[in-house]
Amino acid sequence: MSETMQALVVLEPNRFEIQEVPVPVPGRNEVLCRVRAVSICGTDVHLVRGDYPGFWPPAFPFTPGHEWAGEIVALGAGSEGYGWAIGDRVAGTSHDACGVCQKCVEGRYNLCENYGKPGLHKQYGHNVQGADATYVVQGIKTVFRLPAGLSFAEGAVIDPASIALHVANRGGVRPGDTVAITGAGAIGLLSADASLVRGAARVILVERVPGRLAKAAELGFETVDSSQGDPVATVRALTGGLGVDVVLECAGVPATVQLALGMLRRGGRCAAVGIPTVGVEIAMQRLVLDELELVGCRATAGEMRHVMPLVEQGRIRVREVMTHRFALADYGAALATFNDPASGAIKIVIEP
Ligand SMILES: [Zn+2]
Ligand SMILES: [Zn+2]
Repeated sequence: MSETMQALVVLEPNRFEIQEVPVPVPGRNEVLCRVRAVSICGTDVHLVRGDYPGFWPPAFPFTPGHEWAGEIVALGAGSEGYGWAIGDRVAGTSHDACGVCQKCVEGRYNLCENYGKPGLHKQYGHNVQGADATYVVQGIKTVFRLPAGLSFAEGAVIDPASIALHVANRGGVRPGDTVAITGAGAIGLLSADASLVRGAARVILVERVPGRLAKAAELGFETVDSSQGDPVATVRALTGGLGVDVVLECAGVPATVQLALGMLRRGGRCAAVGIPTVGVEIAMQRLVLDELELVGCRATAGEMRHVMPLVEQGRIRVREVMTHRFALADYGAALATFNDPASGAIKIVIEP
């Protein structure tokens, strides 16, 4: 194996290039993987733009990428004992938590109390180097066996699919519920499928980009064009004036958070996964008097294994949200396509 590889290196906000860099070496309980597919996430766009200074990433230069699949090519010490072998096909996720703090012990490793502490916690492609490269090293807690029926490209969308399942789980969607989803990007569309898996009777996608509305309709969901009139009034009209049982907020801008709360039926629950970059004013009177619930959703917490059979069975439709493929060398074009609302891009898969 060669000692160098290609990697996307972001030198400073909005300036990046493909560089020849050393292949990383796996440490204890880590594996080196050949990355076969890695998908672009909305978070990657923020990282490249420098929207979270000093946090994601802590410093430049930086290699993003956290939604990927590939195969194990080298084992760090200890990983064989946990059953891993060279050639295993895997899908990766980002949180390599400490495994020891109380949140980790309770299974909520996405809330690890040692987040970002050197030697205790890593989040690949966020606070340590990611998978936009020919190879990546990750801890064995963060790789999951990819079923033979799933391609590497599908494997690269398992992490966001697991997040979508986490959002529907946090939303507490129950059989027969009416669910509204704000934002019909990848997480919104996959959360719509996850809501159906949990038994939702109706799922309404609220979105303003025409291509995404068309995709949501093509997948069989009801749609509301939020650029036309008052989307809260439209959703209420669709629900006999009452509002919806659950809203999954997948857009992450202040206006949609407010719309999401406005659409809720009395006693309803909003699970938010979009991360606004600024504060949001909340109508607290209504939240208190109508006993609304607003919960956050961070990444995924145990859903990686659960989501794969659902994807294999076509119940969470990842192939349908994969719109473009690019080589790593064409990352600039891939990012431009992702950022262009007219491109119809939802999930873009890079094949390093
Ligand atoms: Zn992501
Ligand atoms: Zn922990």
